[in-house]
Amino acid sequence: MAGSSWQRTHRIGALSEANVGEQVVLNGWVAKRRNMGGIYFLDVRDRFGLAQVVLTGSEERLGWSMDEGAILAPEDVLSIVGKVQKREQPNPDLPTGQIEVIATKVEVLSRSTLPPFEIERDSDANVELRLRYRYLDLRRPDMQEKMAFRSRFIGAMRNAFLARDFLEIETPILTRATPEGARDYLVPSRVHKDHFYALPQSPQIFKQILMVAGMDRYFQVARCFRDEDLRADRQPEFTQLDMEMSFVEEENIFETWEGVLVDTFRAAMGIELPATFPRLTWHEAMERYGIDKPDTRFGMELVNLSDWASTSGFGVFENAVAGGGRVMAICVPGGGTSYSRGAMKNLEKRAKESGAAGLAWWKPGETGGGAGPVAKFFEGAVGESLLQAVGGSQGDLVLFAAGPRALCWRVLGEMRLAIGREQGLAKPGAWNFLWVTHFPMFEWSEEEGRYFSAHHPFTAPQDWELGGDPAEMASRAYDLVLNGWELGSGSVRIHRRDVQRRVFDLLGITPEEQQAKFAFLLEALSFGAPPHAGFAVGLDRLVALCKGLDSIRDVVAFPKTLAAVDLMCQAPSTVTDQQLADVHIQLRQDS
Ligand code: ASP
Repeated sequence: MAGSSWQRTHRIGALSEANVGEQVVLNGWVAKRRNMGGIYFLDVRDRFGLAQVVLTGSEERLGWSMDEGAILAPEDVLSIVGKVQKREQPNPDLPTGQIEVIATKVEVLSRSTLPPFEIERDSDANVELRLRYRYLDLRRPDMQEKMAFRSRFIGAMRNAFLARDFLEIETPILTRATPEGARDYLVPSRVHKDHFYALPQSPQIFKQILMVAGMDRYFQVARCFRDEDLRADRQPEFTQLDMEMSFVEEENIFETWEGVLVDTFRAAMGIELPATFPRLTWHEAMERYGIDKPDTRFGMELVNLSDWASTSGFGVFENAVAGGGRVMAICVPGGGTSYSRGAMKNLEKRAKESGAAGLAWWKPGETGGGAGPVAKFFEGAVGESLLQAVGGSQGDLVLFAAGPRALCWRVLGEMRLAIGREQGLAKPGAWNFLWVTHFPMFEWSEEEGRYFSAHHPFTAPQDWELGGDPAEMASRAYDLVLNGWELGSGSVRIHRRDVQRRVFDLLGITPEEQQAKFAFLLEALSFGAPPHAGFAVGLDRLVALCKGLDSIRDVVAFPKTLAAVDLMCQAPSTVTDQQLADVHIQLRQDS
């Protein structure tokens, strides 16, 4: 297709020795300018890369003035006609470094005012400035690559689902307020006075209803909105790869995702993941790692010492067990020498931050005894049996926690992660995916004096009869964990109206409330709902992890600040009185 004369014939970043001798038209931004005594060198950039352009010869012919270097300013947009030639001094650091373009004509397509920071790979501009001028930040090669990677990754995942007969179906953005879960973003209705839409926290109910509708396999790259106080690295809107399947159970979901992730990593990153990921029950994860999203790139697992402790002769430990609690420990290999007195103080501080009253630690000697506040209780045979129970040896460091199970898990789980980080125990380049299954069904809220769903109220219980103590009930919810990050969650759903009603009852949702809030779901379940299950993965986090980035902000084109503000377009903003009147809203003057 022939374009206008200013339009590019080649992408700048794609130029190579193969183009030597060719006449080209290039379009791009001025990155750098150097005047070498009459010869002018420009670095010109497009999304695909950067190349050197040489300006020599008469001003008239080139269409610009050689003497006024400032005539071409950084970030001006150019159309350059020229000829590709081999460079006398190649630049090995640049993919186009073998060639340069001798310009015969330069046309300025658009002028740029001086940018507030330089558009280069590594920017030291502060975050606010980068977000305020996000279009300039995104122009940096580094951000262009991240955005391109995100697009490639999501594209590969989309292909993987389509190849497995999933249908991509969009669900509404204007929907109903969610009765359970986080706070909704509300949108007032103009047509229906006093009524509000809500932005979806997830397409959960719609995707379940799509299963009732016989769609069998659904997926969507879905934007979700949650009006929560932002913690570090959370966004009020985020993107999930959301999916649901009919006539399936846990293992089918796991197999599907394993296949999708293997395909996606291969296509987008050239990485070969294992065909299956390990599975761990929630209980086992807590017992071994003290956390429901274990980083399994290193060991140092928790050990339950309660049996040993109850006959240890050490009163503090014996009492903890006798009082219904336990004694647990982790053994830091080589920690006996690597953790000095000062470092031990820091560990103690950390244990207290996790809720422990203090930290008992032990650097075992050759035959029991050794160093640490509790060492004198572990002389001789007691110490030897303890060492055996924790699987340690002289030179190691043993850290103890005593008390209620949940406290031991938390203190040692957090300690394990902190030490793992400090000592660089995680293998670089490892992709430790892991399924955590059998999450608890409910969590008790002291404040509200009632149970909440640990996952969401549509999650099936392990026992369809829902017998026994709700606090002990296990659900059919599962999480996917990668290197200690929770990537996503899902569950086998309740497809029986009677069970769904009983779960609502257990959650303290009255029949009237059930009718008011969930009538459509309960009704749908009564029209032949297939057994179904699903899952959703947080794409922002996954893409960031794949790029080795800590912050999801770097893989979101237009992120918001911690105060939920878009600094570029200044959202949220006030609106006119007329706009408020249209949606029947009057602002309170007192707040
Ligand atoms: N809707 C759930 C979530 O957003 C995921 C799922 O259960 O599929 O976490």
